[in-house]
Amino acid sequence: MRLISIFISLIISLQAAKVVETRWLEGQVFSKYLEDRKVPLSLMNSIDDSDKQFLSEIQIGMKFFELFDESGQLLQALIPIGEEMQIQIARDKSSGKYSFDIIPIEFSKDEYKVVTQIETNPHDDIIKATNNRILANKINSFLKEQVDCRKLKKSDTLAIIYAQKKRLGKPFGSTDLKIAMIETGGKKRFIYADEEGVPFTKTVKKITYDSKGNRVTAAQIRKIKASYIFGMPLRHIRISSRFTYKRWHPILHRYRPHLGVDFAARRGTPLLAVNKGKVIFAGWKGGYGKVVKIRHRSGYVSLYAHQSRIKVKRGQSVKKGQIIGYVGSTGRSTGPHLHFGLYKRGKVINPLKVLKKSSGKIASFITKRIEIKGAKEKRAKIMKMLKHPPINYKWEYFKLNYTLINEKKHYTKVKS
Ligand SMILES: [Zn+2]
Repeated sequence: MRLISIFISLIISLQAAKVVETRWLEGQVFSKYLEDRKVPLSLMNSIDDSDKQFLSEIQIGMKFFELFDESGQLLQALIPIGEEMQIQIARDKSSGKYSFDIIPIEFSKDEYKVVTQIETNPHDDIIKATNNRILANKINSFLKEQVDCRKLKKSDTLAIIYAQKKRLGKPFGSTDLKIAMIETGGKKRFIYADEEGVPFTKTVKKITYDSKGNRVTAAQIRKIKASYIFGMPLRHIRISSRFTYKRWHPILHRYRPHLGVDFAARRGTPLLAVNKGKVIFAGWKGGYGKVVKIRHRSGYVSLYAHQSRIKVKRGQSVKKGQIIGYVGSTGRSTGPHLHFGLYKRGKVINPLKVLKKSSGKIASFITKRIEIKGAKEKRAKIMKMLKHPPINYKWEYFKLNYTLINEKKHYTKVKS
């Protein structure tokens, strides 16, 4: 009985209070925020050092709730740090002292169904049907990968099942999309999400792992494969002397190996790193004159000799195609050209066997086919929804509920 009366008096005393939604501004610091809200800075000093790190987790643009009394005094602020926890600044009613705490965000999470017709585009139509911008953005990125949205026609049907956290009546955090269906030209196209929210067009997904067992996406595989491919050291290629273990040397007038490829080019022509890597030598080296050596992945080292000018420093990381120096004729050379050498684990190899081709040993990947959990059940749910369209849940963006402070527990209860 006593508890109930406290509860009722709290509601009454809070009725004049006002909940305001605020955005955390760029460049805003926590101490300045406290100052602006007339919270004594002693609160700042009372925060544990280990808790202070969380102050930098407040994201720019993050929306948060503030509760003010009728005189404009801050009663409570709830500032999310991530989707699960929030900073709570609360004013004790009797002592007037402020406290700082990090507490769980209270929210509910439910599943919602939407069926709507395309009028303008999926993004705008979803907002119109649900008022949920987070969902609309999610749908957009979800569909973009699988459906050409420009080909959608008016009155095509879009059906979605999603889960959304709700906080103070508003959508909160990211949308957990379960399944989407777009019916266009009489054909239904389903997009299923796996447990991690990754979209797939079939109920069976292919998952690729690298040799270490890490999951990799198609884009990552393309990138990894590309990193195994060497480019050319010059934009325009004219080979003047090929790789050989034995050749007639024009200056020494005797047989010598030619442990690289000579490319004819004008003095000052930019030299390009054949792959990304790290500069391990940049300077003068005997007959090679001004030379740069770059170490690449899988034990490769490339060498660029006779340069007129070196543009990189030892220890520097370079990208594939980055200019590392300029063609010259320094060292033992008969005229401007690039002598290009390639080494694998300390052994010289014929560069032309590797340049522009794969390095031979491309990373290995394993692909597994896995049934997406619950995909067929979700598809059946969508089919049911199409027969009996649900009333789309409209999120209330502009109506805020009040916040109840349970002073006894010194804990926040948020009405959802
Ligand atoms: Zn040469």
